[in-house]
Amino acid sequence: MREIAVLGATGSIGASALDVIARHPERLRATVLAAGSNVDALLALCRTHRPRHAVIADEAGYIALRDGLRDAGLDTEAHAGADAICALAAGSDCDTVVAAIVGAAGLPSTLAAAHAGKRLLLANKESLVLAGELLMQAACNGGATIVPIDSEHNAIFQCLPDAAARDGLAHITLTASGGPFRGWRRDTLEAVTPEQAVAHPKWSMGPKISVDSATLMNKGLEVIEAHHLFNVERARIDVLVHPQSLVHSLVTFRDGSTLAQLGLPDMRTALAVGFGWPERLESGVAGLDLLAQGGRLEFEAPDLDAFPCLRLAFDALEAGGTAPAVLNAANEVAVSAFLQRRVGFLSIPRLVEAALSGTPAGAADSLEGLHQADAAARRHVEHEITRMGPAT
Ligand code: NAD
Ligand code: MG
Repeated sequence: MREIAVLGATGSIGASALDVIARHPERLRATVLAAGSNVDALLALCRTHRPRHAVIADEAGYIALRDGLRDAGLDTEAHAGADAICALAAGSDCDTVVAAIVGAAGLPSTLAAAHAGKRLLLANKESLVLAGELLMQAACNGGATIVPIDSEHNAIFQCLPDAAARDGLAHITLTASGGPFRGWRRDTLEAVTPEQAVAHPKWSMGPKISVDSATLMNKGLEVIEAHHLFNVERARIDVLVHPQSLVHSLVTFRDGSTLAQLGLPDMRTALAVGFGWPERLESGVAGLDLLAQGGRLEFEAPDLDAFPCLRLAFDALEAGGTAPAVLNAANEVAVSAFLQRRVGFLSIPRLVEAALSGTPAGAADSLEGLHQADAAARRHVEHEITRMGPAT
């Protein structure tokens, strides 16, 4: 029996993970559920999945969670706060952790699970962008197995099943759907609304990653993610826009062979790979019928003029040190401001670029240094937004 902590249980990845878990009651069990601040949503999941522990990150939610569990007649133990999430992720009530908290807030629990040697189903890409070297080192030292839960990296993981395959790897091609504004020119993007930006043509996801997909920052974060997960440098990673979102990425080996993984755009496939690997579990996702999907697979180069976030991410990876941490933090604040209609869509790349040039560079070798860079970038962007005044 695999005992699983689902961190970010009330989110999009959390729902997909719990859907796959519920299909295999004889082998998978959700023992820990954690969420940010929505106590009612967490309680509803507890009624269905009956975990041993439920944690709400926002400490103000503790009493409501505790009383709600009691009123529902559940023996699930209530906890609150980020430290409790870390302790449960590292503790003996789980052997597997789904790291699906959004943003840099996911780093402490992801690191805790890595140190503790868990099977780590890593959806929280921001933790790799912020502290990739430290996280990979922690997983190595702790004996954790990381299975990437990002469709592209999960595809690459499946194409690189062993050390011999990884040795022969020459090149990685990440595919990108292109997001809701594929084909739009830069000057037409100024006025787009949060509603338009989160309406992704192929994937149903949380609001932050949906905006990241619309700016192509998501693909930029994924380039940095791929660098850490598969130990490949910038020159051996590129990006192709593939509007059908059926080919989830490609790996090319030194003998000229290219492998790809294909499937419908549904994260339950990646999660089932993570829970079962190397076995294959039923996920609820149908097999791919290429003709029913239109019978076409198209590829085009990304437009870096309309979507400069991808270029900024490539630059941050090349610069190294704290630059990816600054990129990530600046993007989080800018996206949140865009979702709150405090800034326009094109301000996202502008704010990230300004933070990258306005924040001192440093080394990425300590958590403290990375947290300082993250905090400095957040301050920089908040200050810029205040200076800019209300969005028109
Ligand atoms: P979401 O917004 O739907 O869910 C986020 C979850 O994190 C929620 O359960 C929320 O309660 C929790 N959370 C937020 N702040 C928290 C905090 N401070 N402490 C504890 N919990 C907190 O997001 P999502 O789309 O499920 O994405 C989650 C992560 O997975 C992101 O890092 C995203 O980049 C990555 N990812 C998502 C998809 C996808 O298809 N949704 C695909 C690839 C990668
Ligand atoms: Mg992805």
